[in-house]
This record gives sequence, C-alpha cells and structure tokens, in this order.
Amino acid sequence: MSAVIYPTTNLAATEQLSFARGEGVYVYDQQGKQYLEGMAGLWCTGLGYGNQELIETIEQQLQTLSFSHTFGGKTHQPVIDLADKLAAMVPVKDAMVFFGNSGSDANDTHIKLLRYHADITGNTGRYKIITRERAYHGVTVAAGALTSLPANLAHFQAPIEALGILRTDHPHYYRGALPGESEADFVARITGNLEQLILAEGPETIAAFIAEPITGASGVIVPPAGYYPAVQAILDKYGILFWADEVITGFGRTGDVFGCDSMQIKQPAMMTFAKQLSSAYYPISAAVISGELYEPMVAASAEVGIFGHGYTYSGHPVACAAALKTLEIYERDGLYSHAAEVGDYLEARLQELTAIEQVGEVRGRGLIGAVELVEDRASKTPASDLAKRATQAAQDNGLIVRNVAGNALAVCPPLVITRAQVDELVDKLGNAIEQAL
Ligand code: PLP
Repeated sequence: MSAVIYPTTNLAATEQLSFARGEGVYVYDQQGKQYLEGMAGLWCTGLGYGNQELIETIEQQLQTLSFSHTFGGKTHQPVIDLADKLAAMVPVKDAMVFFGNSGSDANDTHIKLLRYHADITGNTGRYKIITRERAYHGVTVAAGALTSLPANLAHFQAPIEALGILRTDHPHYYRGALPGESEADFVARITGNLEQLILAEGPETIAAFIAEPITGASGVIVPPAGYYPAVQAILDKYGILFWADEVITGFGRTGDVFGCDSMQIKQPAMMTFAKQLSSAYYPISAAVISGELYEPMVAASAEVGIFGHGYTYSGHPVACAAALKTLEIYERDGLYSHAAEVGDYLEARLQELTAIEQVGEVRGRGLIGAVELVEDRASKTPASDLAKRATQAAQDNGLIVRNVAGNALAVCPPLVITRAQVDELVDKLGNAIEQAL
C-alpha cells in the first residue's frame, strides 16, 4: 500500500486500478488494458484525453505567465477574458464571476457571498439556504452541509444549523411518488411542501434555493416536466434566489449549453461551475452571481472594507487559459449540438436495457444517464449488490461506469464520444448487468 489516503473510499479497500494514460474516450491501465471511460473521469473530461490543442495552450501559458494571483485587483488577460466570456454565456443577468479551484469551494464562495450580501444590505436575518434530499454540492465543511447524501454527512457534524441549511423533497418520481400519483400531482405535492417549508421558516429568513438541474451523484435524477417552473414561481413569490449548481450539467452535458436550458430554469441568480469548464485538464471553478446581487456589495464596499474571501489560485492564469480554450473548442467543434444528437442516441440505446427484468428505471438527458437496478419491478427493492457486481463486470470488460445511490449505474461519457462508441458503451453495460445477475 502507498501513503495515499483515497477520497470517498472505504479506507480498508486496497488500491484498485492504476491508470497509465488516456487517449480520446479511452484510458489504459498499467498493463495496457483499454477501458472506455464511460464516466468522463468523474463527470468532467468533456474533451476526453490527450487533446493536443488544449495541452499546447496550457504549455504556452505555463511558459508565458505560470502564476499570478488576483487579490486586491491584480489581474492578467486570461482571467479577464474568461470572466467576460462566461458572463456573456450564462443565463444569469449582468453576471459577475468569482474563480476558485473546485466545485466545493465555489459553493462555499456562494454561501459567503450570500452572507456578505445580507450583511451589507442590512438583511442579516436572511441567510438560510434550501437544499434537497439526495443533493450533492461538494464536501468542504460549508458546501458539504448542502449535500444530503448520508455517506458525506455522517461523522462530520456538518454545521447545518449554524449555516441555516433546510432540506426539501427530491424530485425523483420513480422513487418518491405515492401509489397511483400522476407526475403532475407529484410535482404539485412536493412543490407544495416547499412552500410550506418556506412559510414555516419565514420567507424573510431564506436567501436561496440550490439545485443541480439534473443530479449526478444521487443517481442522475431528471425531475418531471413542470417541476422547475413550479419551484421558480414559488421562489419568486417570496423573493428567494434560485441557485443552479451546474458543476456536472454545465457546458453541453445535457445536450444544451447549460442544464438550466434543458430543464426550463429561467434566469438563475447564481450558478456554480467546475469540471467541464476546463475539461478537467486544469482545476478551476466559477461562482457566478447576478449584477443585482453584486451591485449593492460594490456600493457598500467603501464602508465595509474588503470582501475577505479568496483563494491563492483564484483566477490562476493557466487554469483560465485552459478553460478559455476548452470553451472555444466546445463551440468551434459543435460539441453542444453533437452532445444533443449523440445524447439522444445514448438515451435511446440505454432504454433498450429495460428488456432486462432487473432494470427498474432508465433515465437521463443528453450525455448523462443512469440505469437503476431492482430485485423485481413490482417491489422496486434496490438491487445494490447486483449494481456493485455489474460495475465490476463492466470494468473487467473494459468499461468504466459508476455505481451511484447504491443501486444505480451512472454513465457520463466525454462529449466527444461517437455513436459507435456509444454502442460499445451500452453493449458492454448490458452484458455486464447480464453477467452479474
Ligand atoms: N456540485 C456538484 C453538482 C457536483 O457534482 C460536485 C462534484 O461532483 C461538486 C459540486 C463538488 O465539486 P468538487 O468535487 O470539484 O469539489
């Protein structure tokens, strides 16, 4: 065993699989065995592996200016260009951008921005944030409190009360609906619960509602049509901000540029990005807020002093150059429409797996999907052991998928995947489930 403490890992587990290199949508282990990377690493390598153009951009930026911080307004061209580029792309009005290194730290930044905003506008009581059951928003102490998955909350005494974190229903119709309940009634019931929660807590105490447009870690949950419009109508009624965590769904994943576009989410006040922002070639995250949130902070800053929050690597020039080039390639190579088109094909092919009796639900949008395994369709009893075995069988057959939410198998391949490679992915996945039965 090496000295590595592995993240999100049973620490008694031995080292599992050691990768040596990657190319396109494939990675290779130390023995040279090829695997189709059906998870884009960890939902992040949009351009796949070994993209020479991106590598050259990173090399060039390292040669020119390998580091410059951005504290106190020190700046450089890549950070300005990237902020302006993002501001022009996002559905947030008059967007402003704060850079970090990971999705978790960007969500921490948002929590602090909300606090800071509340303080300087004389609204100190308006600090609570509504998150959803089964949400995943990262693992730092603050962002980790927004996460609702038991494994991430257990043992850490997340400062849920101090941070004012409230939890509402998760919009998973397959698991959450009452017997005989229609999708429309399910949406009406859970959004009704949201409104009750807001009224019980006091709307004037609640700053924001955070959601992944389509979730990842909790099993790729795609809410029913009508859910987000209903949520937004309630939030608007009480002046609560919509905060879209697009760490996974941003930049083509769902077949649109943003998950908000795919899920009828209108003009969020805040957005979080990481992962595909740089195709994971260099760590970077972005916390985006509306001009309406930002302006009062500027106005008050003469009085209150500095916004005392920032990371050494906020706006790292190499990360910004990598992100700019990534976004340029996504656009120039038509990868957003490619993801939509090949994504439709992936979803159609995944649906074929419902021929297997133990496949309870297939869901997804664009190039993100999941297959939920059950003991039998009538009882819907989660088949977690089967899901574990199938994940291992897939790996043995040269396919990486991720076992999420106990009994689901997630797929989230690089955006550059072709139809033929989708066939390889789904065929291997189907075979793995059959083998594991
Ligand atoms: N938010 C969402 C929706 C995520 O899926 C993740 C990670 O998977 C995060 C936040 C945390 O990002 P990171 O692991 O880069 O801290």
